[in-house]
Amino acid sequence: MASPLRVLIHGGGIGGLALATALGRRGHTVEVAEIRDELDALGVGIIQPSNALHVMREIGVLDDCLEVGFEWEILTIVDPTGKPLAEIPQPRMDGAPSNNGIPRPALAQVLNAAAVAAGATVRFGSTITGLTDDGSGVDVTLSDGSTGRWDLVVGFDGIGSPLRTRLYGDRYVPEYTGFANWRVTVPRQPGVRGVVMGTAGKDTKALLTPITDELMYLAAVFAEPEDFRPDPERAHEQFAERLTMFSGPVAEALAAVTDPAAVVYSRISQVTVEEPWHVGRVVLAGDAAHASTPHIAQGAAMAVEDALVLAQSLDAEDDVAVALAAWEARRRPRAMWVQAMSRAVLKQETGLETTPEEDELLKIGIPGAAHALVKPY
Ligand SMILES: Cc1cc2nc3c(=O)[nH]c(=O)nc-3n(C[C@H](O)[C@H](O)[C@H](O)COP(=O)(O)OP(=O)(O)OC[C@H]3O[C@@H](n4cnc5c(N)ncnc54)[C@H](O)[C@@H]3O)c2cc1C
Repeated sequence: MASPLRVLIHGGGIGGLALATALGRRGHTVEVAEIRDELDALGVGIIQPSNALHVMREIGVLDDCLEVGFEWEILTIVDPTGKPLAEIPQPRMDGAPSNNGIPRPALAQVLNAAAVAAGATVRFGSTITGLTDDGSGVDVTLSDGSTGRWDLVVGFDGIGSPLRTRLYGDRYVPEYTGFANWRVTVPRQPGVRGVVMGTAGKDTKALLTPITDELMYLAAVFAEPEDFRPDPERAHEQFAERLTMFSGPVAEALAAVTDPAAVVYSRISQVTVEEPWHVGRVVLAGDAAHASTPHIAQGAAMAVEDALVLAQSLDAEDDVAVALAAWEARRRPRAMWVQAMSRAVLKQETGLETTPEEDELLKIGIPGAAHALVKPY
């Protein structure tokens, strides 16, 4: 792009703040409209696999992420008693570490500080209330009544993306998979120095993921009715009831949970925008365009890859429409592969019938997927 652009990012989550950083560092004028009143994030952790850490390096925050997280490279499979069955080294991408567990609030702090340092303005309690694209720019009204004209508007507003509804009506509504993720943060056990995956039978697995020297989280996925919600008085007991087949580190982690409010329950949904991800000068990215299930821990990794590649595509082209098309051509195949692989693993782990295409993906497996994804994006 010969001259700097004015870019409005709708959504200051993981992808939106990564994009604000990447664009700000390139000299573009960037504003982020984030609906939450302040910088908070669910108090659980997330895995940053090597391809996500590669993006963190490219936008200048790798050391900050490693400092507040827990770097690891061995996935250990254990039986229900905690006896090790296999140790699987995880691959690393060109100059980036293998994996980093990190508390979501800490990641939000790192990315927000980087975006601001790169010159971006991050407005909390702010959302788009009016938008008109006349072909040469987008006139936007925000919820505080302010107006502005932008060269590009990016919807990084998550799986429930209001901007997606504005662009495509109700053609793309997140589909509930029938499964939900239970998570709780507990003190890290000294033996948990990487992800420990406990397996009990074909269909049940529980993951322990270190996120700091002091903390790790326990996560497990179960089939749950769409309208199920944990009992606020005994969510921790309901979580434990689903994992009674485990003794060893998983049971020890559960025994440390006494507060039902500590349990985080997330229904797992996915959505794919089949039409082009941009309409004129408004584009969707991250979960808004292609949310996948968390089974290979790649949703946020895809969002930050989207962010960096979008900045690179805008570097390479003088025309916004050409840049957006080039960006999507690079991003869609990889994001769709991650989505299909994640869904196949969900089906395999929960005993659902798989299609022949999914059987082919499952031959690659989770370790193979990690290797496939440390190739250039
Ligand atoms: C249980 C679970 C575990 C996961 N674990 C991992 C993992 O280990 N590794 C991994 O890579 N991924 C993981 N993911 C996926 C990851 O969380 C998402 O893919 C990632 O957060 C997507 O980033 P995003 O920026 O697109 O959206 P988000 O991070 O969801 O950000 C969207 C932002 O938009 C804001 N917003 C929403 N509406 C508006 C509005 N109207 N106006 C302004 N702002 C708005 C929201 O407040 C939010 O800040 C997991 C997901 C789940 C459900």
